[in-house]
Amino acid sequence: EPQIVWLRRDLRIADNPALYAAASQGPVIAVYVLDDEAPGEHALGGASRWWLHQSLESLSKSFGARNSRIVLRRGDAVEELTAVARSAGAETVHANRHYEPWWQRAEDKLADALDLVLHDANYLFPPGYVTTGSGYPYKIYTPFSRALLAEMPPRDELPEPETLFSPVDWPASDRLEDWNLLPTKPDWAGGMRDFWEAGEKAAHERLDWWRDEVGDYDEARNLPSTDRTSRMSPHLHWGEISPVQIWHRFKSLRSDGWKVFEKEIIWRDFAQNVIYQFPDYPRKSYRDGFKTLEWRDPDKDDGAKSDLAAWQKGKTGYPIVDAGMRQLWQTGWMHNRVRMITASFLIKHLLIDWRHGERWFWDCLVDADYGSNGTNWQWVAGTGVDSNMFSRIMAPLTQSEKFDAGDYIREYVPELADCPDEAIHDPPDDVRGSYPAKIVAHKEGRERALAAYRAMKAD
Ligand code: FAD
Repeated sequence: EPQIVWLRRDLRIADNPALYAAASQGPVIAVYVLDDEAPGEHALGGASRWWLHQSLESLSKSFGARNSRIVLRRGDAVEELTAVARSAGAETVHANRHYEPWWQRAEDKLADALDLVLHDANYLFPPGYVTTGSGYPYKIYTPFSRALLAEMPPRDELPEPETLFSPVDWPASDRLEDWNLLPTKPDWAGGMRDFWEAGEKAAHERLDWWRDEVGDYDEARNLPSTDRTSRMSPHLHWGEISPVQIWHRFKSLRSDGWKVFEKEIIWRDFAQNVIYQFPDYPRKSYRDGFKTLEWRDPDKDDGAKSDLAAWQKGKTGYPIVDAGMRQLWQTGWMHNRVRMITASFLIKHLLIDWRHGERWFWDCLVDADYGSNGTNWQWVAGTGVDSNMFSRIMAPLTQSEKFDAGDYIREYVPELADCPDEAIHDPPDDVRGSYPAKIVAHKEGRERALAAYRAMKAD
């Protein structure tokens, strides 16, 4: 009897528990359903669609090389999977667990219609696996990470299935080109094409490169001018590689770099652990006091509206912020330190609700991830369960200098390409040229944010 494999953010052949289990039990029909309704406002953003196209193209080739294929359908995932199963005479669907609330709901519905077998695949340990002394999932990263490290090693990694047998008849499939996932006019994806290669093979090649580079990650990861982080995030988000594979490939390393890198991979597990407990976390703060904070609202206030637009376009007059926002637009990715600085600037200096930033990142990032994006935005905002204090306000100009961002700025803000080191972080008026003036002074922005925070009702 044919076995259905429901592919989502697990676009790989090796270490894919759902695919492996299905292949050992019968002919395999792998299905990817593009469902733009179920996620609501978290339907895939533009950069994600671009990545998905490349990743599905690459995975389809890998299936083709094994005389198999991926069936593409568009619509409600549960309805499409049920229809495919009926037409193929299949009863069983194998899927790897996902924790976005719309996928959780779909899993529940599918389990009513068919025999759904769920597997743990995309995290070191399933969310909720480690608990506090009182039996609840962790809300704070540091004790979570300590508990997870005590559980190592994670599960064993799985090999590729030996063979993928075909069903007698293949169910109907859409053509990937007809999904129009790529931009037409304007073609904004040129920078992304130069920067990235999607797919399982590219993910492993990148990991091979990174294994030689990870040694000084503990020091170098904060310096945006050097290419000293792994850039594995889109590969991990789309499941082209699993964190378990990374862990086993690196476990024999002894460097401080690897130890710190391991903790970053644990942050990724932590973010899922948060949305597992608080499914709407990327949409709302669970701390009531923040409901009364008076944000400047871009939908009601023209000043806030133009400030939000300046932030999105990288025209705030703060070189480090603008370099980051332009890197995001051009490449679909931004360095982590700069993500923190740009996010903090929007929330504190511009006093605009973090959800506007979350939305923009969601649309622009190739690694846009419901759990990681939401958790990090709330962490920077200081509105979440595990957070900075709202009143701790990053000084963008000091950060830029401290982390030596000069070359990074010169790369992404061409107006400042000739600016000397001593002026690059905060160029004086006579060297700014066409580069915009600051949209808000640091002190003024900072004091406005602190005043709003003081005026808010206590939590
Ligand atoms: P590396 O430094 O090489 O880290 C290795 C891996 O660890 C990353 O690929 C990622 O999977 C994981 N990781 C590292 N830091 C974090 C973190 N703080 N939280 C969760 N996982 C982490 N990451 C996303 O994957 N998707 C997002 O949508 C996302 N949104 C963010 C929004 C904001 C405001 C901030 C401050 C951070 C966000 N991050 C997000 C986390 C982090 O910035 C990226 O994971 C990292 O920059 C990706 O680059 P890298 O692969 O080179 O990271």
